[in-house]
Amino acid sequence: MPTPDQLPRSKAEIIFIFLFLPVVVGFYLIYKYPLWFADELDAFYLFGKQPAFWYGLTYTTLVSVTCLYILVRGRNAYSIRKEPEPLNRYQKGKFSMILFSQLCAFFLVPFVIIPLSRGVDFWHDLPTEPVKSAHVYLWPAFTSLGTALYVFVLITLVVYFFGKRYCSWFCSCGNLAETVGVTPWGRKWVMKYTPRGEGATKLEGVQKIMMVLALVTGVILFTDLMKLASVETIVEKSLSFQYFVTDLIFGSIIGVGSYPFLGTRIWCRYGCPLASWMHWLGPTIKTKFRVVANGQCKGIGLCTKTCPMGIMVENYAHKDKTPIMGTFGLKETPCIGCGGCISACPTKALSFKNIMNKNE
Ligand code: SF4
Ligand code: SF4
Ligand code: SF4
Repeated sequence: MPTPDQLPRSKAEIIFIFLFLPVVVGFYLIYKYPLWFADELDAFYLFGKQPAFWYGLTYTTLVSVTCLYILVRGRNAYSIRKEPEPLNRYQKGKFSMILFSQLCAFFLVPFVIIPLSRGVDFWHDLPTEPVKSAHVYLWPAFTSLGTALYVFVLITLVVYFFGKRYCSWFCSCGNLAETVGVTPWGRKWVMKYTPRGEGATKLEGVQKIMMVLALVTGVILFTDLMKLASVETIVEKSLSFQYFVTDLIFGSIIGVGSYPFLGTRIWCRYGCPLASWMHWLGPTIKTKFRVVANGQCKGIGLCTKTCPMGIMVENYAHKDKTPIMGTFGLKETPCIGCGGCISACPTKALSFKNIMNKNE
């Protein structure tokens, strides 16, 4: 039976890609910069609701329906077998959490519960500036105490115990990547087109630059907020860069638009400043997160092909087809703990380190 990466693009997939690209570019431009195309902020509101609502509804529906399908089907979504084995506890937990976070934290609370609790006319949104830092790009942590606690305290604790699982269990961007990545086309995009190898890994340095730029923006905004230094043009230029380059071009258009060509995690691997921060944090605070190989590897390589982060997983499980008991964590790789490699391995040669076992 051919693995998903061996299948050519079908006609339906090619038509989808032709429609997908202009829709992604056009939609994000109108959504983030409506005043480029019209005189009023609410020019593109539909049935009185802002584009963010319809975007959130579509996004959440796609993620939720896929999660429900995986959970109800109850079969290993990473297996290449015709009759996959049952979905394991880890993946059940992951897809349940994705469903919960996407539905509640990223849609119902911001778009339904908060507007209703304010007693405003639900079907008549007031003209508002679109959000241009939707994916916690690190710099907002310098502008409010709540976000600072979230990024510097909560996420630090999460990284210590769970590594970068925030990216595969909770983050809204990651929710789309995880769910699309287990659909038939999405699996092929991940397995066939995710950049791998030395060059692709070296290029991950771009993400460090994105992190430094986000931190610099954060410090500029903080000094401005504290009235320590307020150079209006520098504040404006830094924010414009974050809004236009980081949020629109990289995070939105390339981040989503590149799914069919480069897999589902290009933004998460090369762009997201928060991911780079977590990657740096992991070894610094000695995170307990690791993936371990148990010496049962047969060198089949499905783990590497399944990894959406382009990690050469098999290098830790065999050397020239001879099994080894290697291990990796955030010091060696940008692993997001999705568990895809573990679920894909037919010989059960991989697992997460058990953080409750003190002997390991
Ligand atoms: S890398 Fe960034 S955008 Fe991607 S899932 Fe992680 S936190 Fe979210
Ligand atoms: S760890 Fe499993 S999937 Fe990866 S190469 Fe070895 S046998 Fe194949
Ligand atoms: S190494 Fe495994 S757990 Fe880590 S990101 Fe890749 S597939 Fe997911």
